[in-house]
Amino acid sequence: TVQAPISAAARSTRQWQEADSAHFMHPFTDHAGLARKGARIITRAENIYLWDSEGHKILDAMSGLWCVNVGYGQQALIDAAARQMKELPFYNAFFQTSTPPAIQLAELLAEVTPPQFSKVFFTSSGSEGNDTVVRMVRHYWASLGQPERQVIIGRKNGYHGSTMAGASLGGMSGMHAQGGLPIPGIVHIEQPHWFELGRGQSREDFGLTAARWLEAKILEIGPEKVAAFIGEPVQGAGGVIVPPSTYWPEIQRICDRYGILLVSDEVICGFGRTGQWFGCETMGTKPDLMTFAKGVTSGYIPLGGVMVSDKVAKVLIEQGGEFNHGFTYSGHPTACAVAVANIRLIQQLNLVNHVRQNIGPQLAAGFASLEDHPLVGETQTCGMMGALQLVKDKASGQPFDPALEVGMLCRAHCFGNGLIMRAVGDRMIVAPPLVMSRDQVDEMMALIRHCLDLSLSELKTKGWL
Ligand code: PMP
Repeated sequence: TVQAPISAAARSTRQWQEADSAHFMHPFTDHAGLARKGARIITRAENIYLWDSEGHKILDAMSGLWCVNVGYGQQALIDAAARQMKELPFYNAFFQTSTPPAIQLAELLAEVTPPQFSKVFFTSSGSEGNDTVVRMVRHYWASLGQPERQVIIGRKNGYHGSTMAGASLGGMSGMHAQGGLPIPGIVHIEQPHWFELGRGQSREDFGLTAARWLEAKILEIGPEKVAAFIGEPVQGAGGVIVPPSTYWPEIQRICDRYGILLVSDEVICGFGRTGQWFGCETMGTKPDLMTFAKGVTSGYIPLGGVMVSDKVAKVLIEQGGEFNHGFTYSGHPTACAVAVANIRLIQQLNLVNHVRQNIGPQLAAGFASLEDHPLVGETQTCGMMGALQLVKDKASGQPFDPALEVGMLCRAHCFGNGLIMRAVGDRMIVAPPLVMSRDQVDEMMALIRHCLDLSLSELKTKGWL
């Protein structure tokens, strides 16, 4: 018999940690620091909870990495994978071949996405989706006889992945500093982050100001050279930055005015996260292309892709000829089978309405109630995403010295008390599974308040307040 991977219980935590640090290079990790501490070994999960190798139960308020929308342990997804692996684990879609799960998923995506979309290009991740976007929009304009339309505009502190094109579209300075990014033809405007950039103005006025930075950039470059604008409806990795309500409609107006393609990166916001199927529906835009990943399979298996609007597809199909692009796993049958089961489950459980009408408003009320906390300078939520901005001085909004890493201090209290919450600088963020019950939202809010209180007393003890 072939030996399968050994069970979690076969080694001690220490043994797993030693093997981990000897062989496994982690994403976005300082390995010298990790080797000193040892990785936390996560061994199993059910519903919204994780367990580590020491038997600690942890409430996963980040849905893994913004992806486990239906929660852990959903039998329908497990069965779909097992069934498909037995029948046809893999076949490609390159040489005039296709497979039933990929076709079904394409059909289903056309049904749940906004009406302008009836076609999809499959990838295995969000980054690959955004790489596809870069090549597709440039190929689109070239097919229309405008090859000089090359420039894609993204935003500072946006996140669009880690590949050369994904990291270039994103506006993370730490990422640009490694590997010679951004690649040519990608530029950035400032983000619509009211708390950081706009507090002298009302949120609504600032939303318009921030959107008009796009117009200024288009005019600076020359509209005839601009191919597309890309943004996340709500910035996720940047810190759950919910733009003012005026922002996206104005972005749409500007894209329309200059005939520039609008790309909505729905890798986090898609599949119910914001209380609509897609974030663009919550924000009121009509994108030409839409990147997705994560929630399409609830993270059970890797899958991503790009929804292509009829306007773009028509040009690509009628004038584009062969698009010289694709991946071994474009339309992977097992991944697609899991995605079909996942989307059917989201529909069956009515999760999008559950977020919009039930737990989303509950999360919003819970976060608003934290605004009385001495450490909290601002709270924001959108559907099942939330942010708490920690500040040194509540009245003036004065931040802590970044060198103190107050967000990391708070995160350590969360981890120590059975709660996964992420820190982006001093902004504490959550994106919990969409299957949460009202009781579980209450349980999470109580944990968050407790961890804020613990952080406050530690800061006072240290004399940092
Ligand atoms: N776009 C957005 C908005 C994301 O949040 C992410 C991942 N967090 C990506 C793209 C990249 O996706 P992946 O990690 O699957 O390549």
